Amino acid sequence: MCGIVGYTGYRDAFPVVVKGLKRLEYRGYDSAGIALHNQSLQVYKKMGKVADLEEHVVGKNIAGRTGIGHTRWATHGEPSDRNAHPHLSASGKLAMIHNGIIENYNQLKQELLQKGYQFISDTDTEVLLNFIDEIKENNHCSLEEAVRIALKRVTGAYVILLIEQDNPDTILAARKGSPLVIGVGKGEHFLGSDASPMLEYTKEVVYVNDYELAIIRPDELILKNLGNEVLTPYVQKLDIELAAIEKGGFDHFMLKEIFEQPQTIYDCLRGRLDAQKNKITLSGIEQYAKEICSANRIIMVACGTSWHAGLTAEYIFEECCRINVEVEYASEFRYRNPVIHPGDVIIAISQSGETADTLVAIENAKAKGAIILGVVNVVGSSIARISHAGAYTHAGPEIGVASTKAFTAQLAVLSMMALKIAQLRGTMPAERISYLLSELEEIPGKVQQILNDIAPIQSIAEKYAAARDFLYLGRGYNFPVALEGALKLKEISYIHAEGYPAAEMKHGPIALVDDQLPVVFVATRDSYHEKVISNMQEIKARKGKVIAVVSEGDETAISLSESAMIVPVCDEMLAPLLTVIPLQLLAYYIGVARGCDVDKPRNLAKSVTVE
Ligand code: GLU
Repeated sequence: MCGIVGYTGYRDAFPVVVKGLKRLEYRGYDSAGIALHNQSLQVYKKMGKVADLEEHVVGKNIAGRTGIGHTRWATHGEPSDRNAHPHLSASGKLAMIHNGIIENYNQLKQELLQKGYQFISDTDTEVLLNFIDEIKENNHCSLEEAVRIALKRVTGAYVILLIEQDNPDTILAARKGSPLVIGVGKGEHFLGSDASPMLEYTKEVVYVNDYELAIIRPDELILKNLGNEVLTPYVQKLDIELAAIEKGGFDHFMLKEIFEQPQTIYDCLRGRLDAQKNKITLSGIEQYAKEICSANRIIMVACGTSWHAGLTAEYIFEECCRINVEVEYASEFRYRNPVIHPGDVIIAISQSGETADTLVAIENAKAKGAIILGVVNVVGSSIARISHAGAYTHAGPEIGVASTKAFTAQLAVLSMMALKIAQLRGTMPAERISYLLSELEEIPGKVQQILNDIAPIQSIAEKYAAARDFLYLGRGYNFPVALEGALKLKEISYIHAEGYPAAEMKHGPIALVDDQLPVVFVATRDSYHEKVISNMQEIKARKGKVIAVVSEGDETAISLSESAMIVPVCDEMLAPLLTVIPLQLLAYYIGVARGCDVDKPRNLAKSVTVE
């Protein structure tokens, strides 16, 4: 959600910053802008895409070796040129970009209005900027000192980057609750919401922590806390290649990422799962084995697609580990004063590792003595760092806003965790665990099998692309998959879709069924199969259009479906890893058929860094 980029060094800043902003486009945004230090501060900004900004600056002076750039995802004030970042302070001496929300902006704004300040935009950002400006002008102090004083009064979440008229090559950065990475080069430094803007220049990065402030010059990086103590930056080496964040011949990142799943699931299992030896190696679980094995309950905390992974894991964990599992929306959990006992185990699931609600939820739970395990994709992200232990999903950068490969990697990690805990607790017969481990090992090949024959899914998508609503139904392990299928369709095609447990349909949604409504069943052969077949009959009897994800060779389910999407046979517990694939493709091709921007759906952001 929103992107920030900064550069100071020996190159022209504009092309570096604009390229960086394009890399961050996947995060979702509505406007773009840049501020350059070129004798004086130059600010260019435009509602729309980064390409609109590039057009806007044609013929203008874009020289300068220090610059900050922003893609805005509006929270305070409509998307417009006026509200786009960077903002200039009232003194004209500071330019600032901001990711996040200043929660007490209104109070600060009233104080500034009384002092005669006027505001050009409706944003919380301009308020913080002028608050800093006012402190600096009144106290005749350095920008660094003014920022430190200001941030002590601010509530909310932020990453801010500032450049200053009187300091041509310096960028000042600070963060709390939103991500910030600094790339360390030779005679140059880069800043970004993630590492993608700096990948071709440097692999050495510093992840800035909350309440830290950085003063960055071409040859210098000074890191401090808000108490003005100098900290030693911890420089880490990135192992992502540039190719991993490019489209590689696919029309969209989403399609590329769907097709990467045999590899990403394999990567996620590799080195951790040895079915022959009946062995799962998950150091995070091993490290906290005693606490996890004696836990009274496990709470999965997540948002969006990750929440669906958590819901699927609830079924798996309860079956394997016989521990009570609760699945919570992080945004509800954090504000609900939940009952947490020391020794409760929280599993935080997040692709980006920066999801604001999940982050705060686990901070609260940690303070109450819970053990936090992170299941995140982005190495070094905030959730990974706050967690006591965990397991990375190793799915590689996910650029498509609608999550696909991150979801299946989360399922793979969570399945391994459940089986590992089952081994430690002795809650599942060894032969069953052994069978499931070999089934898990076969998943990448079976996903590949689905991807080898996507033509039927493509034609189903074309057939139903004009529908107004969709209903998705599934039971047991496939119920969360029905929710995920509906979410994918909503996200990228803007078609209204609902997911329901198939049996629950009779308590309401069946009233929607008519001869226009496509109903997608996730109906692979499992212990609920007979029941789901009856539910399919019920929809058919009311003339609904039955589309179904079915197991290879299941003639009954195939004959009941107007359109069938076939997946290989596998154990019911691992079926979601397969059944979700046709639903991702269905949503993708419907989105494409409707002319939607599937990689960057309207209003959505990849990494939801504001609550
Ligand atoms: N709250 C700020 C605004 O509305 C920043 C939003 C963002 O993170 O892009 O302008």
